[in-house]
Amino acid sequence: MVTVDELFALDTLLSDTERQIRETVRRFGEQRLRPHVADWFERGTFPARELAPELGELGLLGMHLDGYGCAGTTATEYGLACLELEAVDSGVRSMVSVQGSLAMTAIHKYGSEEQKQQWLPELAAGRAIGCFGLTEPDFGSNPGGMRTRARRDGTDWVLDGSKMWITNGSVADVAVVWARTDERIRGFLVPAGTPGFTAREMRHKLSLRASITAELDLDGVRLPGDAVLPEAHGLAGPLACLSEARFGIVFGALGAARDCLSATIDYARAREVFDKPLAAYQLTQAKLADMAVELGKGTLLALHLGRLKDRGELRPEQVSAGKLNSTREALAVARECRTILGANGITLDYPVLRHANNLESVLTYEGTAEVHQLVLGEALTGAKAFR
Ligand SMILES: Cc1cc2nc3c(=O)[nH]c(=O)nc-3n(C[C@H](O)[C@H](O)[C@H](O)COP(=O)(O)OP(=O)(O)OC[C@H]3O[C@@H](n4cnc5c(N)ncnc54)[C@H](O)[C@@H]3O)c2cc1C
Repeated sequence: MVTVDELFALDTLLSDTERQIRETVRRFGEQRLRPHVADWFERGTFPARELAPELGELGLLGMHLDGYGCAGTTATEYGLACLELEAVDSGVRSMVSVQGSLAMTAIHKYGSEEQKQQWLPELAAGRAIGCFGLTEPDFGSNPGGMRTRARRDGTDWVLDGSKMWITNGSVADVAVVWARTDERIRGFLVPAGTPGFTAREMRHKLSLRASITAELDLDGVRLPGDAVLPEAHGLAGPLACLSEARFGIVFGALGAARDCLSATIDYARAREVFDKPLAAYQLTQAKLADMAVELGKGTLLALHLGRLKDRGELRPEQVSAGKLNSTREALAVARECRTILGANGITLDYPVLRHANNLESVLTYEGTAEVHQLVLGEALTGAKAFR
């Protein structure tokens, strides 16, 4: 018997360091996270405060950023870590993505030296948690329409508006909030506890339940002049951060798919129907073979994109291709696995429906599947079809 990794000889494409990082994160995921994740999912909770320092100690927060206490790994190493975290649950990978690729990347890319010194070492160590507030109740795929405003009052800024679906929002020590100004869209660092700023956890989610999601309200939030990210001007600022987070998803979603497939193969070998193992039926094998091929192809693409990124050659539409493929195929794999598990597949005793439900969010956030089709459509034809 071979695993998908062995079938595609994926290890031959990895360096010793990459394999080592992958094993370390896999071990952490299996030992520290997996025993609890179904319970977190069922209760709709995630112990972000407790886990952040442990994730920080492993170097997983702001992993591919340089300096300020960050691990400074390659993009491919970061991707492989995302894959292993998401093999446990997309919620864990989301926490790490939002902290590192969104909040920390925004500060690292666009912040002043003082902002970097103040926040990055704390965020890298997991002593502080960050969130990234771009989406609003009426503006998700089209963040350029945002209504949240920041106006000047003397040397201060005053922010009014609301943000929705913000991962880590109600546990964050600092929120990177994007707002419209008289000139262009700018980014602001809003510390928790600032008067007028409230974060309310969103409940009743059926997806990413082991992840904290919040609504942010900004009601006359007064910030000093130096709360603005000095180097971010316009929507290109947040979009570049999103591209970083999408890159992690290209790898991450495949982790969820791998976990579904391996749980399903184990199940199909053990479960007997009509007097023989489910795994010995041609219909089951056809499903498993097709899923293994998709997972292998997706991983090869992810590694290729990782190498391009490490050479500084990765283009946004290539990230879109990877995000679209990984999330769409991972969701299809999770659903197909669920059929093989029959009724057991709908329980939290097996990971497949939990992953499938999580992947619904992963398909939607960081640019929906349709938005990435539009990005690719524009790249292929030269015609913009967003409006
Ligand atoms: C669990 C979770 C966590 C999240 N975390 C964060 C976070 O930390 N920070 C943050 O800022 N946001 C976050 N988001 C928000 C996420 O980025 C948005 O949900 C996403 O951008 C889609 O926006 P929307 O939900 O408003 O959908 P809409 O934009 O309303 O889209 C609805 C549908 O219309 C389609 N559509 C949109 N535009 C077009 C078009 N031009 N042509 C054809 N079809 C179109 C979409 O593809 C989709 O199918 C999170 C979301 C979820 C579910």
